[in-house]
Amino acid sequence: MSLYEIAQKQWKRAAELMELEPWITTILSEPKNEIRVNFPALMDDGQYRLFRGYRVQHNNILGPYKGGIRYHPSVDIDEVKALASWMTFKCALVNLPLGGAKGGVEINPKEHSDTELMRVTRRFAHALGENIGPDYDIPAPDVGTNAQTMVWMMDTHINSTAAHDRFAMRGVVTGKTLTTGGSLGRDKATAQGAVFTLESWAERQKFDLSKAKFVVQGFGNAGSWAAKLLCAKGATLLAASNSRGSVYNDKGIDPDALLAYITEHKDPAGFPGAESIPDKQLWQIKADVLIPAAFESQIDEHNADDIDVKVIAEAANGPTSPAADEILREKGIRVIPDILCNSGGVIVSYFEWVQNRKNEAWELEEVDRKLRRLITVAYDATEEIGNRYNLGEDTRSAAYLVALDRMRHAYLERGIFP
Ligand code: NAD
Repeated sequence: MSLYEIAQKQWKRAAELMELEPWITTILSEPKNEIRVNFPALMDDGQYRLFRGYRVQHNNILGPYKGGIRYHPSVDIDEVKALASWMTFKCALVNLPLGGAKGGVEINPKEHSDTELMRVTRRFAHALGENIGPDYDIPAPDVGTNAQTMVWMMDTHINSTAAHDRFAMRGVVTGKTLTTGGSLGRDKATAQGAVFTLESWAERQKFDLSKAKFVVQGFGNAGSWAAKLLCAKGATLLAASNSRGSVYNDKGIDPDALLAYITEHKDPAGFPGAESIPDKQLWQIKADVLIPAAFESQIDEHNADDIDVKVIAEAANGPTSPAADEILREKGIRVIPDILCNSGGVIVSYFEWVQNRKNEAWELEEVDRKLRRLITVAYDATEEIGNRYNLGEDTRSAAYLVALDRMRHAYLERGIFP
């Protein structure tokens, strides 16, 4: 099953449960726009290389398209379509006035210098042209991109679209640096949101999160921040991994020290505070919380049965296959689904966009307070609808029910032009 088919299967189960009008199901089944661009960029050796980039705009019934840009060699149209549709439902679930989009470039950023990445990014932003804009489609960082990537995109967009109101145009992207119009709290937002959802789960379970033992797959932006925030609450990081390897210490790993080690050595192997373990052993560690924070389809029918935790907090998009979902449900393992768990990223991106429009700079406490409120309301709505539909451990369908109900209202009230 392709990733886009998986994404469709997830929301269509909820659509059937709620008997969504067939015409709305038909509209949501395909993205509104699929943009593919091929563009040249100058390499440091004086040669030009052609790159392929995508922007998929899935749906904008609730507001301007919104979604990250991924730089990875395996980026393709199927993956970008899946990620774009997840953005649509994520924004609807947490009640943001935004639609869903995603973009990417087929590139391995690790093989390029900063100057090459800057030229690739500028040419990509130029190729997208007016397909993005602060009132139309607003990119953000994802795997392989960061605040610097967003600043290059913003600067290129402002300079190539002859904007009169250059400062208002800063809102063409979010996840920027603070000096260029970014928001406090955006760097940790995805992880902070995931931790807030874990707090909601813990409160309902009467579980003391400060005693939690947890495991993180993917020690990048979302994963390392999640580890730091949970350890700050007193929880214990048992194991962590990145694309190069996995490490384990049953006495606990210091996330700051591990991050410093990885920043210098790339591979966690050799980190003095933990022992190396085979990657697949990561899934077998008995813990309270498992945080997949790397890529799609990491938990599947081959490893789901090994998992021995109370709750899985999906910081990554699409980390669990449908077959694994069923196995986890049978085992009674609670999943906080991706469109809820990792929505902190787009929520604070939305705050950044609002601050840019109003020319404001909010304090971190305000950002965190508003983030906690939005994501907790969405968590409670998911629980409530799950109970109403008697969904048991099927929290994923519950989250889609909340999202689809909101979108259904918008479609029924607006209708289809003409
Ligand atoms: P990132 O590039 O900062 O981190 C990804 C990490 O995963 C890296 O450490 C990488 O080495 C690791 N990784 C890759 N393959 C792996 C493997 N097979 N095993 C273990 N680790 C592996 O990216 P990120 O921004 O932290 O995004 C991670 C996930 O979170 C993605 O699914 C992304 O779509 C999702 N997400 C990110 C944001 C955001 O704001 N950054 C928001 C919502 C969702």
